[in-house]
Amino acid sequence: MRLVSVAVPVPFLDVLTYQVPDGLAAPRRGARVVVPLGKRTVTGIVVDPSATLNAAQTSPEKIKNLVEVLDDEAFLPGPVVDLALWVAEYYACGAGDALAAAVPSTQAHKTIRIATLTAQGHDETVSLRGRQKEAIEALRGKPHGLSVPRMNEMGISTDVLQRLAEKGLIAFQRERIERDPFSNGVVSTAVLPSAGRVLTDEQSKALDALSGAAATDEFCVFLLQGVTGSGKTEVYLRLAERVLARGKTVLVLVPEIALTPAVASAFREAFGDRVAVQHSGLSEGERSDQWYRIRRAEVSVVVGTRSAVFAPLTRLGLIIVDEEHDTSFKQEETPRYHGRDVAVMRGKHERALVVLGSATPSLESSQNASTGRYSRLVMERRVQDRPMAAVSVVDMRQEYAEHGPDVILSGRLKNAMTRRLEAGQQSLVLLNRRGLATAVFCRQCGGTLECPNCSVSLIVHTEGRERHRARCHYCNYGMLVPKACPACKGPYLERRGFGTEKVAQEIAALWPRARVARLDRDTVRRKGAASDILRSMAAGSIDVLVGTQMIAKGHDFPRVTLVGVISADVGLGLADFRAAERTFQLLTQVAGRAGRGVEPGEAIVQTLYPNHYSIGHACRQDYAAFFADELKYRQAMRYPPLTALVNLVVKATDAHAALTDAATLAQHLRANADAGRFSVLGPAPAPMARLRGEYRAQIFLKGSHRASMREAVLAALAAEPEMRRRVAIDIDPVSIL
Ligand code: ADP
Ligand code: ZN
Repeated sequence: MRLVSVAVPVPFLDVLTYQVPDGLAAPRRGARVVVPLGKRTVTGIVVDPSATLNAAQTSPEKIKNLVEVLDDEAFLPGPVVDLALWVAEYYACGAGDALAAAVPSTQAHKTIRIATLTAQGHDETVSLRGRQKEAIEALRGKPHGLSVPRMNEMGISTDVLQRLAEKGLIAFQRERIERDPFSNGVVSTAVLPSAGRVLTDEQSKALDALSGAAATDEFCVFLLQGVTGSGKTEVYLRLAERVLARGKTVLVLVPEIALTPAVASAFREAFGDRVAVQHSGLSEGERSDQWYRIRRAEVSVVVGTRSAVFAPLTRLGLIIVDEEHDTSFKQEETPRYHGRDVAVMRGKHERALVVLGSATPSLESSQNASTGRYSRLVMERRVQDRPMAAVSVVDMRQEYAEHGPDVILSGRLKNAMTRRLEAGQQSLVLLNRRGLATAVFCRQCGGTLECPNCSVSLIVHTEGRERHRARCHYCNYGMLVPKACPACKGPYLERRGFGTEKVAQEIAALWPRARVARLDRDTVRRKGAASDILRSMAAGSIDVLVGTQMIAKGHDFPRVTLVGVISADVGLGLADFRAAERTFQLLTQVAGRAGRGVEPGEAIVQTLYPNHYSIGHACRQDYAAFFADELKYRQAMRYPPLTALVNLVVKATDAHAALTDAATLAQHLRANADAGRFSVLGPAPAPMARLRGEYRAQIFLKGSHRASMREAVLAALAAEPEMRRRVAIDIDPVSIL
């Protein structure tokens, strides 16, 4: 009996065992196979080509046969199969869940079957009639055959074809439909476009250290901690050039490509059609074609977002994770992996050099550098000795005391903006909150207009079709703002707080001739809208760009000399232990957008908490001081990176059920925690206790030994199988809302 184990793309399922029927060649590891699963037939990936039965598994007579082997060779390279299996184990999801992240999503549909006549079919004439005869005649004179869908259109069913195949008169082949997203591709250049540039001392030192490490062909991780504008991209490019020269390939992970196109286009410019760039503008089909180009080794550099960590590159020499602190590297649905951490593991499996780059490294990476697991390289100066932006803080308590509670722009920020407009320079204005008003309050009963599905306030918009509608930013529920309070019927509804939309209106009113644009999730709904806005900004046809954290990403606009931050403390109120870290990163990054050209930059930060350490250290752009303070807090509160965290969210249709189910799980977990290897916190209602109509309760596990926490969670769920589908397991959670 020849057995193989197969991962199928079905949530939570572990690998399954199948038998290879006689007459079928045994598939290789990483090949796709068609297997029966219940009443369905699905495509899976072979993870073990010579499996054996162990006692715990089903009895041999229950083992089903493979239906079809789709690939003679491995479809997924071995190391990518290993990586996906590691993800499944580490993040406690199904093997198929993890492998599904590694295969192009359209692979099952995009290969079509082609029917061709066999030699026997050519000779066969007499014994056939009806549709079978028609089919054979249609295929005659078609040496490349006809696709099955095409023959179906001609009225010849798949059944008829199947019967002809069984008689050996026709054969099926699989063929890919290919589109080339690079038909107008750039030709690769022999030398880097920036080859003439003289590197700064810090750039040369970093490059030397990194190329030295790359030359060893051993796994190691570097944290490239370079202030905004220190020229990290140039270091990446030259390092990549050296790795490619050694005949190896390069993988570059970036946050969102639409918002941070600079690194991708720099690679494209430097290496032309050797680069595959995965961006959201690609159709599923193009993405899949690109996958095959990578698989056929037609490209040697892949630049993409987190899922590119599974790109089927072979001979991998270098992995770069740019802006490694960015939260978009964490996938917030199953498999809940962190692209950066998976990248490090991939580097380890494939003995590649891993470079994590950031001006504001995550506490996790920085701590790894402090303990010596990673090597830290620091670039403290901007290129061409450009000064860092001069940052000043405006205490809004004073501003409100003097000018009333409706002040949006402080006197200092207004003056600074006027000067920029007069000088023809650009300004960025950050407020990390969308919309016009944060909420609608009732002055009579004190209630707010809330989403009926999610435990959050509705946010009011004023523009276009959204005029006077209050909308939920989680589930998109919307309603017209009522005249009276739905709870107490009082007519005293008041809009309080404000978002980016209101700020843009205020600026347009103060400076009617200024060209003002807005960049936030509301204005970039349309595909391509974000790049349009960023392009206008780069072309100088916008004077003031107002936006959320989207404007803080790694943009390089040399004409921006002023950055204003409206409420620096927006994020500090969130029930998240990373609130201070996020605030520090956001402020440092946005201040880093100013003064990247010839003119020096200035940043003005408005806040109600001028003494909060995250705001103070960000204003001084002092990462080391922030890291030291924040680490003390994490230590005192036992939070990552000093301990590992696992978050379980239990969902149910009512609040009571969510909490009691969570309590049942917590009990199982506490029973397993007796060795003291981890502690169990909760259950408690999740901060978003209601989301999209579901009630949510959560449990936290804290400990230093992830494996024992993971095992305890899986054991608890094995004891309560009914809950399995309602519990989200988040290992190393990034967002705990
Ligand atoms: P970072 O990513 O570290 O914030 P960038 O890589 O965006 O910085 O570099 C900032 C700017 O400096 C870019 O416009 C880049 O082209 C330019 N630059 C980088 N290195 C040099 C250099 N050695 N000499 C001159 N300009 C440079
Ligand atoms: Zn909602």
